[in-house]
Amino acid sequence: MDTLSHALWGVLLFIWFTTNPWILLLGAFLGALPDIIGWLNKKICKNSNAWDWYVWAHSKWNLLNLLSPYGFHVLLDSFTHGEGKRWWVKNERLYAEILNWLLLIFLFILIL
Ligand SMILES: [Zn+2]
Repeated sequence: MDTLSHALWGVLLFIWFTTNPWILLLGAFLGALPDIIGWLNKKICKNSNAWDWYVWAHSKWNLLNLLSPYGFHVLLDSFTHGEGKRWWVKNERLYAEILNWLLLIFLFILIL
């Protein structure tokens, strides 16, 4: 899934418990964190082909998964990343990205 939707899922996971904007911002950050780690790898190494941190950040065995928005990010990506199941390819799992956004919009309308 895309990074913005992961951040919004992080907000959704926390908004059930609080409306404190700092906590919701933390949820957004944790939701986006696996992709941020991957992005940092490319920036720090100055190599657009650097994927080591991204792969580590998206590992199912990473202890950061215990943080719910982070773990939910990795769980969602496990269904929509990899050969044959990429969300950014029309004939693979682009439908999952569309369903993801429809569900996000529906849940935000429901909550707000
Ligand atoms: Zn990701």
